[in-house]
Amino acid sequence: MLLLCLCTLALGPAPDASALAKDYAAAVRELNDAHAAKPVVKSEEELARRLPAAAEKALAALVKSKDAPELAAALVVAGEAALDLDRMDDFELVRARLAQVAPGEAKQLGIALSRPRFVARGTDGVEQEGLAAIADAFDVVLDGYRDVFGITNFSKVPGKKLRLRAHLVDAITRPPHFAPEFPWHSEIDFPVIEAKTFTSPTPKGQFLFYGLCHELGHVVAMWGDTRNEEDRHAWAHYTGVVLVEELTKAKGEAVKGLRDARWRSLTKAREELAQPPDEEGKERHRVMKLLVTLHDLVGPKTIGSALNALDDAGKHLRVNRVRYYSLADFEKALCATDTGKKKAKEIAAAFAAR
Ligand SMILES: [Zn+2]
Repeated sequence: MLLLCLCTLALGPAPDASALAKDYAAAVRELNDAHAAKPVVKSEEELARRLPAAAEKALAALVKSKDAPELAAALVVAGEAALDLDRMDDFELVRARLAQVAPGEAKQLGIALSRPRFVARGTDGVEQEGLAAIADAFDVVLDGYRDVFGITNFSKVPGKKLRLRAHLVDAITRPPHFAPEFPWHSEIDFPVIEAKTFTSPTPKGQFLFYGLCHELGHVVAMWGDTRNEEDRHAWAHYTGVVLVEELTKAKGEAVKGLRDARWRSLTKAREELAQPPDEEGKERHRVMKLLVTLHDLVGPKTIGSALNALDDAGKHLRVNRVRYYSLADFEKALCATDTGKKKAKEIAAAFAAR
């Protein structure tokens, strides 16, 4: 007994769960901040491997901590941090321990999976197979941006993956949205009503597949600045309907449960453009008309390559690392492409008509 007491004294008090979680989260934050300030690796996997051994040790000690009032909150802090660095093994350890000590909190922290282009997280009761189904649809949409527009750059910080958060709700009252506020990642926040599968539209006519395509359009490009949405919200609608139509044609089995194209497609958008707009939607109608005209003039690949050229030249505004372009720069970049050079007059006319 005496011996045991001496040992304890010699080691000092064990750090409590909150301190361990704080240390781990701080190490993740430091690594992400340093990479954001000056990217040093090509991929998030590589970055994740650079987590210092001391942080790994802190996490190992945390998940072995005895029950204590602060343990659940500490585990949540560590779980969130693990997701910020694509540390899936760490996340699983935390999740398993949290499920033992606080099942309610574990449900809120949710489940996660990592794929080469993104980390998907499901909360509030989304199950593994449901999250995998959403991730499959997301992969199809990312393929679409790559194959149709030639766009592969979605990240705020080079090398970091996108984030997708699906949360299970009884009824969808808010549409999916692009959450630009996170420091290192672009995140799409996505309400779903099915725990184990992913189909669209919902019985109430909510277009989740189109929603995914649309939200990624915002990640690719915002227009104007935070005060003046120069495209009047037409850009994400344009990329959304183009991709729903193209992917429905091209992807066969992979889009079996995604039937939005009947209601949301470029063909439908053209029909809408043929109708006179109401007073409120006038400006949006004009930008949408411009985008569809450009689509027909030069094609989506050239539209994507103009944006990529603006990116390479650093011709955009960054607000919290989110890219904002101007329509004037876009016109110039389009006219500088090989296809655009041949259509310069028509491109100028389309912009002038807006
Ligand atoms: Zn939108």
